[in-house]
Amino acid sequence: MERKIAVVGGGPAGMTAAIRAAEAGAFVTLYEGNDRVGKKILSTGNGRCNFSNERMGTQYYHGSGKALTEHILERFGTAWTIAFFEKLGMRIRSREGYLYPASDQASTVLDLLRYELDRRHVTVHTGKRIAEIRPQNGKFFLPSEKTAYDAVILACGGCAAPETGSDGNGFVLAEKLGHRIVSPVPALCALRCQEKYYKQVAGVRCDAEVTLFAEGRKTASERGELQLTDYGLSGIPVFQISRHAAKALQEKKTVTARISFLPDFDEDACKTFFRKRLAAGQEDEMSVFLTGIVNKKINSLLLKLVGIRETEQAGTVDAVAFERLWHLYCGLETKIVDTNGFDRAQVCAGGVDGSEVTERLMSKKLPGLYFAGEILDVDGICGGYNLQWAFASGAAAGEAAAIDR
Ligand SMILES: Cc1cc2nc3c(=O)[nH]c(=O)nc-3n(C[C@H](O)[C@H](O)[C@H](O)COP(=O)(O)OP(=O)(O)OC[C@H]3O[C@@H](n4cnc5c(N)ncnc54)[C@H](O)[C@@H]3O)c2cc1C
Repeated sequence: MERKIAVVGGGPAGMTAAIRAAEAGAFVTLYEGNDRVGKKILSTGNGRCNFSNERMGTQYYHGSGKALTEHILERFGTAWTIAFFEKLGMRIRSREGYLYPASDQASTVLDLLRYELDRRHVTVHTGKRIAEIRPQNGKFFLPSEKTAYDAVILACGGCAAPETGSDGNGFVLAEKLGHRIVSPVPALCALRCQEKYYKQVAGVRCDAEVTLFAEGRKTASERGELQLTDYGLSGIPVFQISRHAAKALQEKKTVTARISFLPDFDEDACKTFFRKRLAAGQEDEMSVFLTGIVNKKINSLLLKLVGIRETEQAGTVDAVAFERLWHLYCGLETKIVDTNGFDRAQVCAGGVDGSEVTERLMSKKLPGLYFAGEILDVDGICGGYNLQWAFASGAAAGEAAAIDR
């Protein structure tokens, strides 16, 4: 007899789980709380959906479920995802390894998943938010549903971007079913800083290296296009390190970042650069002397921080102040006081404890219960890794739920 499977959550993980389970011969019903499935997909990759990456591996993932990614990605890695979407009809475009639908429309990914759900005869109930799952005698029952399900796949997402439907209620469901939740924090988000000077440099984008420290210990470092905002730091390198900042702040640690505006230079190279420049530009006013090094607003800010006037002649600047100035180019220290919150985070770090889940993504506490996607304590870096995890874990959970006895 075909197995009856309920999938709770119609995001990329839930939809892929439903498709794979139906493909493997199960009778599948998908429940989605929103009035439509896959709402979040539409906002991914700035509307273009960076759905995977040619560079794949466990090193791009964090969380207590990191070990699971190795097993899952072995079978459902980038090649599998490409083949899956190509089979559904999608042409794919790679931008330096970052994969997008060739249409450059996130809606393509969502449409193809929806069509496939139809083709596989998955029953989709939208506007149906599941508030309870009742296990009984090896079966699962959902409120006001007559069907006794053989397996349930929880794919409710985490709590990032709650307006798309994933507001953390999946964690409550998982907790009620006996699972430990690793306390969630926002990740892939901007960082808020203590200093007031950010308003002066808001809007600046520049190549920089950002190094994060928790209680003075280096925890992460990334280089890329830094975006300065009126409240602090944003841009891809900041997104990449944000989960470490969020975790440290959650543990009440003091978190600081050091920004190098000259990421090609170490301290010695920086010193030599400024010495040579000074030898040639003694007569220049400081604003002229610094022109061309980095963005003008950064030059002005750093001058102000060391107390050098823009009109002062370079040759007359006090040696100690001058040294402090070039040190700031190599490493401006800033205090991180908060992250940008779940509303403006792309993912959630934390979730169902990975050690309580088998390599087939089944609960070790309650056989027949499976997990897929961001509800698990697995978070990837920017670059298509989170959607890849959603598709991969969805396929793995769907297949296992359909086959396992
Ligand atoms: C702005 C933004 C941009 C992003 N860009 C990218 C990108 O380019 N590349 C990338 O890899 N990742 C990106 N991400 C991350 C990626 O979208 C998520 O990691 C991914 O969507 C997680 O998939 P999921 O299916 O696990 O959860 P979700 O996509 O959150 O879906 C969960 C679904 O479950 C439903 N649900 C929740 N609770 C219930 C319930 N009790 N009953 C029924 N239904 C329920 C929700 O309504 C939702 O539809 C981005 C995220 C955001 C917010």
